[in-house]
Amino acid sequence: MKDDPVHANHHVQRDYPGKVKFCPLCGGAIAARLIIPENARRNVCTRCGFVHFPGPKLVAGCFVVDGGRVLLLRRGIEPAVGKWTFPGGYVDFGENSADAAVRETREEVGMRVALGPLLGVFTDSMSPALTVVIYLAAPGIDAPSLSDEATEVRYFAPDEIPWHDLAFPTTTDALTAWVASTRSSR
Ligand SMILES: [Zn+2]
Repeated sequence: MKDDPVHANHHVQRDYPGKVKFCPLCGGAIAARLIIPENARRNVCTRCGFVHFPGPKLVAGCFVVDGGRVLLLRRGIEPAVGKWTFPGGYVDFGENSADAAVRETREEVGMRVALGPLLGVFTDSMSPALTVVIYLAAPGIDAPSLSDEATEVRYFAPDEIPWHDLAFPTTTDALTAWVASTRSSR
C-alpha cells in the first residue's frame, strides 16, 4: 500500500475484535489463555505476553437543545448515510469525552456549544463495538451549518422526531431518553 489516503472500510471494521490474529506490539501469534487473577480466557500473544483486552470504542456527542427542540443532522457519510442523528464522533485516545463532544459538534455543524449535563450513556447490544456518551448542550452564537458529514440540519420538537428515519439504535435510545426527560421536567 502506498501513502494514498484511504476511505474507512466499515465492513472490515466490524471484524474487530473477533478476528484479530496477530499481536499489535510484536506481530506474534495470538492464542486464548486463562488470565489470572481475572480467571477469564483472553487472547494473549504467544511471543511477548501482551494481553488483548478488547473494549468498546467511545463515541461522544451533543444534544444541542434550543427552545425545547433538539438539533439533528442528516448524515452525509456511511454508515447510515441519509439518516438523522446528533453531532458526535469518536473520542480520540487520551481525549476527554466532553471535549470530544464539543469538538465533533464544531466539526460537523459548525457550532461552538456550551456543554451541559450528561444525558446518558448508550450501547447497542447488537453492535457492541461502540459505547455512546451524550451531553446536553446549549447553542452559542453560531447558527448550525452544513459539512461533508451533515447534509441537512434542523431542530426537532419532541413530537417532531423522525423516529423511522434515525441512523442507529443508540440514536433512538438517546432520543427516547431525551423526550422522557422533557416530559418529566414539565
Ligand atoms: Zn506480542
